[in-house]
Amino acid sequence: MQNTRKPVQLRLRPNNVRPTAKQRQYGILFLISLWYLFPASARGEDTAAWQRNAGRLSQIVHDLCKHLQISDNVEIQVDDHNDKMVSSQPLVGSIRGYRISFDRQFLLTLNDDEIIAAVAHELGHVWIFSHHPYLQTEELANEIAMRVVDRETMKKVYTKLWAQTGNVGNLEKLLGPDSKKAIPKTATVMP
Ligand SMILES: [Zn+2]
Repeated sequence: MQNTRKPVQLRLRPNNVRPTAKQRQYGILFLISLWYLFPASARGEDTAAWQRNAGRLSQIVHDLCKHLQISDNVEIQVDDHNDKMVSSQPLVGSIRGYRISFDRQFLLTLNDDEIIAAVAHELGHVWIFSHHPYLQTEELANEIAMRVVDRETMKKVYTKLWAQTGNVGNLEKLLGPDSKKAIPKTATVMP
């Protein structure tokens, strides 16, 4: 889930959902776009199911931006291949904003809660980019994500991420110490 500033080559079929005047009025500007590099039907996938997933991803980004008080434009897309499995980067060009990219196969391994956790982590990077760009770390992105998702779910995402990439990291370092473990056990006093 390492962030990157490196631009990627994209062949895009834009399907922008533009913010309504009402959203602008409330100062929340979301530009959530989903693109597919190839028609899903060409790979024998269920197009309707993918469209439902696209709508669900948009909703997740929208809700998490609200909870994390992120008002930047955030696009999310599913790519056929992303070496990092999921990543975020500032948009290149005149439109200010950020893009989150999921590897299609990795996305399929995640349940709803884990997708939310992965998106929250990437939005953690977005938050850092727009607040403290020189403090960009995995640990801080997780700290921000864990304002809205629990540690256990973040652990499951990392387990699935590492299963895909073959890398293994230090969960205690990435997620901080487990506060549950830090709670001292109370002594049992026999009557
Ligand atoms: Zn990351």
